Amino acid sequence: TEVAELLRSRIRDVPDYPERGVMFKDITPLLADPTAFTALTESLAELCTAYRATKIVGLEARGFILAAPVAVRSGVGFVPVRKAGKLPGATLGQAYELEYGRAEIEVHAEDLSRDDRVMVIDDVLATGGTAEASVQLIRRAGAQVAGVAVLMELSFLGGRQRLEPGLDGAPVDAI
Ligand code: IMP
Repeated sequence: TEVAELLRSRIRDVPDYPERGVMFKDITPLLADPTAFTALTESLAELCTAYRATKIVGLEARGFILAAPVAVRSGVGFVPVRKAGKLPGATLGQAYELEYGRAEIEVHAEDLSRDDRVMVIDDVLATGGTAEASVQLIRRAGAQVAGVAVLMELSFLGGRQRLEPGLDGAPVDAI
């Protein structure tokens, strides 16, 4: 579509970042372009409305930048999922495997309730490890996952295949 082409044109490929052999997708040109950033926000907000989301979870750090305006536009609350040790209140934590080592993410347990339908938003779906851990956190908080939506999916890394079995039919969308 026209929106997808505009967004694609505002994503910069940075070779060998953060390490040799990795082609990093840099979204800062998109964020700096108000037409592109607005179009992305509206596309994501449409999904949230279509899936009847009652909360938007953004994944630290670039996911925060996308999820916050989507939450405001959709008229629902924003909930940050942060790297371990950053949230001051009572948290639920979920560890997951990285290519080298482990990571842990956390959410404030009181921010999600049993009747919430939660949309997970991030910039890039790569191996799917981060999104999968967030889905587990949301479930453990007792809430339902309405869907996972990202700006872009690096399909050769298989994130969608990894995520879908655990989603009970909730959709994975890449704008
Ligand atoms: P995954 O857990 O392997 O799916 O990696 C996804 C996480 O890593 C997301 O939170 C992304 O923000 C980040 N990430 C992975 N690759 C890229 C990239 O090329 N550009 C920007 N962020 C990336």
